[in-house]
Amino acid sequence: MSREEITPHRKIFVANWKMNGTSSFAEAYGAFFREKYQDVPKNTFTIICPPAPYLKILHDAAQGIVLLGIQNTATERKGAFTGEISADMAADMGCRYGLVGHSERRHLYQENNTIVFEKAVRLAEAGITPILCVGETYEQREAGQTACILAQQLQGMGRLPLTQEVIVAYEPVWAIGTGKTPTPQNVQETHRTIHAILRAEGLSAIPLLYGGSVTAANAKDFVSLEEVQGVLVGGASLKCEEFLSIVQSIEL
Ligand code: PEP
Repeated sequence: MSREEITPHRKIFVANWKMNGTSSFAEAYGAFFREKYQDVPKNTFTIICPPAPYLKILHDAAQGIVLLGIQNTATERKGAFTGEISADMAADMGCRYGLVGHSERRHLYQENNTIVFEKAVRLAEAGITPILCVGETYEQREAGQTACILAQQLQGMGRLPLTQEVIVAYEPVWAIGTGKTPTPQNVQETHRTIHAILRAEGLSAIPLLYGGSVTAANAKDFVSLEEVQGVLVGGASLKCEEFLSIVQSIEL
């Protein structure tokens, strides 16, 4: 997908299954989207990030109706790194998108900005668009540090050799998997802050997503905002019907 195809009027919907699912789940999910392809609004990108072992099953079952994303890749290109998956391998499996900097990777696996940026560069080198996740914790928010934390997480991004387009996902840590969300106005303001930080990095027209407890019931509140180019969905993406409803929220 070229940069031109991601226009401000095409909304992006990303499903992050995390470490959930089975091969039969992946097959049924892909078959569901293939059968419902006419119900997927045309001006959307639907990107599914299953666990890596299920990429091919999903790909074959969906027959090109959804785009594939990888949840995590290595900082290294190849070699003696047992258990790791390289960006080239993900590209070889058909992935066009890759998550980096997800709060679970930052907090559970101590991935700092250096690691996050290395992974983003490896993805770009492999021809995969990085979806860079940023967001503040509850304590940071309460202390009024949100803008400062986001600036830290994005600092230096403008100097990275990212050959592909990049997508940024604003995911407040306290909203992920909790059922709590910021108000649409909060998201709007924070997205403006992120755009300003990116402009200061020399980056413009970067698509910004919102993520954190998005469901079929609240998706429209976020995707209808001009500043929000789509959503990154965890828990609610595990039900294919609900994820399709979220994608359809642009038509409500
Ligand atoms: C996520 O995994 O990035 C996420 C936003 O999860 P959830 O939708 O479950 O909050």
